[in-house]
Amino acid sequence: MQTNLADLYKGTRDGAEAEAILRKCVHCGFCTATCPTYQLLGDELDGPRGRIYLIKQVLEGHAATRKTQSHLDRCLTCRNCESTCPSGVDYGRLVDIGRKIVAAQVPRAGTDRLKRTLLARGLNSPLFAPAMKLGQAMRWAVPAGLKAKVPAPQAAGARPAPRHARRMLLLEGCVQNAMAPNINNAAARVLDRLGVSLVAAPGAGCCGALNHHLDFQDAGLDNMRRNIDAWWPAIAAGEVEALAMTASGCGVMVRDYGHLLAADARYAEKAARVSAMTRDLSELVIAEPGLPALLARARGAAAPRRIAYHPPCTLQHGQQVRGKAEQVLRDAGFELVPVAEAHLCCGSAGAYSVLNPEISTQLRDRKLAHLEAAAPEAICSANIGCLTHLQSGTATPVRHWVEVIDDLLAQA
Ligand code: SF4
Ligand code: SF4
Repeated sequence: MQTNLADLYKGTRDGAEAEAILRKCVHCGFCTATCPTYQLLGDELDGPRGRIYLIKQVLEGHAATRKTQSHLDRCLTCRNCESTCPSGVDYGRLVDIGRKIVAAQVPRAGTDRLKRTLLARGLNSPLFAPAMKLGQAMRWAVPAGLKAKVPAPQAAGARPAPRHARRMLLLEGCVQNAMAPNINNAAARVLDRLGVSLVAAPGAGCCGALNHHLDFQDAGLDNMRRNIDAWWPAIAAGEVEALAMTASGCGVMVRDYGHLLAADARYAEKAARVSAMTRDLSELVIAEPGLPALLARARGAAAPRRIAYHPPCTLQHGQQVRGKAEQVLRDAGFELVPVAEAHLCCGSAGAYSVLNPEISTQLRDRKLAHLEAAAPEAICSANIGCLTHLQSGTATPVRHWVEVIDDLLAQA
């Protein structure tokens, strides 16, 4: 697609990157067919090709409007369109740039800005964990609209003390430990059985995705630099093999540190190394040589149970990691039921479910109908956002896949 950048964007890093992406798009529209918002809303401008066109117009000097911003806001950033695109258009990066330049031209209305600020500050705050505990203890008093965001309290179990020479860094994340504290501990227990100790670095926190996707890109970059500072001593000393991500929404962000900090002379090299060391938990577990024997011993410990698996968009499209958690579950003796439309987003998409509740709920219900079609005993996934969002619409237990494997191994 030919582009003619406005002078304002010529020679800028964002302008050059956006132009290179736009040039790859041949406007074929294949991506539109797999876009969840186009499927629901049927408007070309709520599909990837239409959004790409809107971003191109703004980069070429047309003034962005509130309507332009709404079409970009309604995008889930699920990146399903990237998986479908035959020309390799990097839509995720383009929409990031598009949102940034549109936000600079169209200031957010008061309530929208307030909501975004509260989400970014609140979910990142040290007060989030005690507030969640209070909400869980008084769930009966939580208003119906908020109850879905307050999962029932969960026993976390113990985290094994580091005892192996082989170590990996764990990103604890910002909300996961408060909402579902068993996930990171289950990951640590499973890897411990495989001869690897998971260790957390004091000082690390939110991966930066919250700020980045809520129009606070500079604050997001600060989150990333803080994490790199926290992880660097262990990385530089060669003490850790990898950075383990138990939430694919964080994984996709950390894998992007190298790109996002490429122009930062102090952090570029470190950020690239951090991104290169980042792995989703499923990639790490399935690569362990001791896994087949461990699972073989565990297979007899419990009758195989029927599971429906939801691959998060941040894993299957954002990180292009597919089939690994499913394989671990199958190797452990679980039956994975077929699920239609497995490529489509569940509607969680970080803060999207709060900012766009109608679309988010429609996508959740559509996803749950497919996941529950074969009457599974449990639903599994790999991202805290998807887990809590799906659980808010069903009585079927929704769990991280590693918790299910951990339970099985505990019975063996
Ligand atoms: S993004 Fe890819 S699939 Fe979509 S219109 Fe452009 S070239 Fe076609
Ligand atoms: S990221 Fe998802 S919602 Fe956004 S345009 Fe692409 S397919 Fe549609």
